[in-house]
Amino acid sequence: MIRNPRHDVLFESVRIGPKVAKNRFFQVPHASGMTNAAPHVRAAFRGMKAEGGWAVVSTGACSVHSSSDDSPFPNATLWDRSDIAAHAVMTQAVHDHGALAAVELWHGGAATVNRTTREAPLSPSGMPWLATHVGFMSAARPRIMDAGDIRDLIRWHAEAAVKAEEAGFDILYVYAGMGYLPYQFLLSDYNQRSDAYGGSVRNRVRLVDELIDAVRNAVKGRCAVALRVSMQELRARPSEVAESEAHEVMGYLKDAPDLFDVKMDYSAYDCAPSRFVPEGSHEPVVDFMKQITDKPVVGVGRFTTPETMVGMIRRGVLDLIGGARPSIADPFLPQKIAEGREDDIRECIGCNICISSWHDGVWVRCTQNPTAGEEWRRGWHPEILRKDGAGQVLVIGGGPSGLEAALTAARRGYQVALADSARDFGGRLRWESRLPGLNQWFRVVDYRLGQLRKMANVTLYPESPLTAGDAAGFGADHVIVATGARWLPNLCRDSEIPGPALDAPRVYTPDDIAAGTLPEGPVAVFDADNYYMGTAIAEALADKGLAVTHITTAGAAQAWGFMTNEQTHVHRALLRKGVATRTLEIVTGFDGETLDLAQIFSGAASRIAARSLVVVGTRIGGSALYDDLRARGLRVHLTGDANAPGAIAHAVYQGHKTARSLDAEDQPRRDAPFAPRDFEVPA
Ligand code: ADP
Ligand code: SF4
Repeated sequence: MIRNPRHDVLFESVRIGPKVAKNRFFQVPHASGMTNAAPHVRAAFRGMKAEGGWAVVSTGACSVHSSSDDSPFPNATLWDRSDIAAHAVMTQAVHDHGALAAVELWHGGAATVNRTTREAPLSPSGMPWLATHVGFMSAARPRIMDAGDIRDLIRWHAEAAVKAEEAGFDILYVYAGMGYLPYQFLLSDYNQRSDAYGGSVRNRVRLVDELIDAVRNAVKGRCAVALRVSMQELRARPSEVAESEAHEVMGYLKDAPDLFDVKMDYSAYDCAPSRFVPEGSHEPVVDFMKQITDKPVVGVGRFTTPETMVGMIRRGVLDLIGGARPSIADPFLPQKIAEGREDDIRECIGCNICISSWHDGVWVRCTQNPTAGEEWRRGWHPEILRKDGAGQVLVIGGGPSGLEAALTAARRGYQVALADSARDFGGRLRWESRLPGLNQWFRVVDYRLGQLRKMANVTLYPESPLTAGDAAGFGADHVIVATGARWLPNLCRDSEIPGPALDAPRVYTPDDIAAGTLPEGPVAVFDADNYYMGTAIAEALADKGLAVTHITTAGAAQAWGFMTNEQTHVHRALLRKGVATRTLEIVTGFDGETLDLAQIFSGAASRIAARSLVVVGTRIGGSALYDDLRARGLRVHLTGDANAPGAIAHAVYQGHKTARSLDAEDQPRRDAPFAPRDFEVPA
């Protein structure tokens, strides 16, 4: 395949201070959950993107001092020389593929409450940052920095810069974004100082300016210096001398760094879920940068389509196409565009399971790319598999797990037959992707089906409901059962204990709605699952004109949605669509006309009118087909939701792992931090 000439512009080199990026694909800093304690895991994860063609590959936040400790969120460190070796493995992996390595030097200020180091958080004026946000919540409030603290902060950055250069980094970031310390200096709400670092915008910019100088001078200009800055709030504030405070700030800083990395302020908008926010959503906030500065500008927006990327360059919005999630979902995105293989791109679906992994404090996990985070631990490459499969594999069920299992087995060289009882492949996503906002999730199916259809060793059997007898008669060497899970109609007794199923008319589960049932209104959705299903059904039914009440055992609708940055957006959507929300309640009874509710703490009873009830509670796996085949002595493997129900990410991962394990050892390795004797890097 040859590259589409329209995409040539993406492969032009870009000078960044003393360094040159070989093309315009820039993996901006993003959380990976990989700290210095897992140096090889991290190196392999980042190195894979360099192998896939990204010209610049960055770390996630890398703390410059122990007063910036993000625990329980994982962060990298450059606190002393003992940290250098762990980073050097990563820069080596990146350099091995001709890419530049960037480090995001970071001080969290008031946004880090230093749970492990127990140091007092720092801030310009004692203001906390999002003190009630998940993981940030703490009783600790920051102290007000004095002049000595500001000198220390600048020195810590300079010292970290020296170590970063020694570790092999080419681009050193100063990070003034997302509530972190230099960002707090930029905003008057957080910076109420009366010294040279507060008051006027010029004064508020001073710290960032000095940090950039300090970092550049520390490495004597040998590394490029990037400024990462959030501009959502600044852009919304009027300025007396410019179009907005963002314009004024950038006007002062326009010549300071070698590169601008521009973004939003809040994770829910910066890393926004596709369910509510489209590709390229940062543009209205960052679009003025190229009019202000001659320095290269990188920005993100979940760019997955080359046309959008080209548009960003041609329209003068960005010089470099920043990627965080698209680089996780497909580390080989640049190479695939370079080779004219756009159809092979595993496009990010914007589900934000990746960011939820960081909120969970673990290595990054991705719905589309089951190998993310497993490059070193399991030795999984996202594109290259050992061609060691011999024999035939029958996969029953063509949902996310069955499709992934079939594709992985086929890539290993097995003859693969994939059967599904339905006319179309896709399993749960056939319907779920038609729920409001979830259409991009169907990319999970599109990508896999597209690949399978190109493979000579794959046969697809739609409309093929298989019995155990059919499967046994097929004569395959392995049978993979990926037949999915089902929702139970059971209530729960309180927010934890499973309860009975209701004996009442018009009680439905998501499976009934998926099968086409349109409940009679008014309809109540009782949600004890607390991920997307309950709120998405509530939205869908409201879209059909029904009066909907969403009831949850949790304190907020879609309580787990804070993990995927959906919660703000979901509440707005429910309000917009007129869905009534009730929290901290369980359903205790329903007679087809009236729904009985009880408050979970007090037990206080209340009633609402409802003609139908949709229970979004527990999903259960298991497969009689699997049990039967096993009893017949076949080599049969249960996978995906049929094995253990979960998010689509879990199903894809299980399907991948099942197919990797056929006739093969697939044991993970354990990474370990470098021991003290390994600290010193040869001069
Ligand atoms: P997962 O998320 O684990 O991939 P899904 O529920 O999305 O699970 O997909 C399961 C698929 O299995 C559905 O498309 C369903 O039609 C199919 N299926 C279930 N039982 C059979 C069967 N006996 N024969 C063929 N296909 C089946
Ligand atoms: Fe994209 Fe979802 Fe993967 Fe994150 S987890 S990179 S949002 S597909």
